[in-house]
Amino acid sequence: MRKKIAAANWKMNLTWQEGALLLEKLVSECAPLSSHQRVVIAVPFPYLSLAQGIVKERGDFSIAAQNCHHKAGGAYTGEVSTSMLQSIGIKYCIVGHSERREYQSETNSQLADKLQLCFAHQITPIFCCGESLPTRESGEQNSFVQAQLQESLFKLAPDQIAQTIIAYEPIWAIGTGKTATTEQAQEIHHFIRKQLATTYGDQLAAQVSILYGGSVKASNASELFSCLDVDGGLVGGASLLATEFSQIIAALP
Ligand code: PEP
Repeated sequence: MRKKIAAANWKMNLTWQEGALLLEKLVSECAPLSSHQRVVIAVPFPYLSLAQGIVKERGDFSIAAQNCHHKAGGAYTGEVSTSMLQSIGIKYCIVGHSERREYQSETNSQLADKLQLCFAHQITPIFCCGESLPTRESGEQNSFVQAQLQESLFKLAPDQIAQTIIAYEPIWAIGTGKTATTEQAQEIHHFIRKQLATTYGDQLAAQVSILYGGSVKASNASELFSCLDVDGGLVGGASLLATEFSQIIAALP
């Protein structure tokens, strides 16, 4: 069975004191997960080791980085490499979030390099893709997402793809309160899985977890997660509240 994942993306929010309180609540309040379920929490770089300390008793929780650099190392002031993440035991990293694509002008080619570096350092990437509102309104979302996949994700080898997590995140739904309908989510998740099948075969495509991201909250998580090709969510705003995020975790199928 594919892994069902509730992933949190704190972005540049919360002091460490606030974050620690949130993690402590989640760790103590969430019932143990089934073996096919997982919680992954992407925290700011300074909190990585501290956060790992709080979740260490929970084998079903992991701490993730929100980004990594596309070069292996060197004179890149302020950046963080995948080998640094590996050296502190980080096993997951978000790659290609739309905010980084937009504000840091990250390109598909740089993201392809980040993906290779993640695998070189035993880090599972959570690869984000998704279209803007004008692209959705012009009905070109499938070809847009297909290009994002082809120019970065599909450079991976089959054994790497099998371990990758994809997050489909329509930009028009991120932090806007607008959520894709279950029909919209299922349609494009199915399209992504079809692209995986065309490139890597049906068996491999069936193994890849595809998360939905874009204003997921406690009140819509169950409905979204009930879609055949939606394997959980990548959650921004609602992951900052213990009661909201624990209900999202509880909605995992
Ligand atoms: C995100 O940033 O990945 C995200 C989906 O944010 P939100 O849940 O706030 O829309």
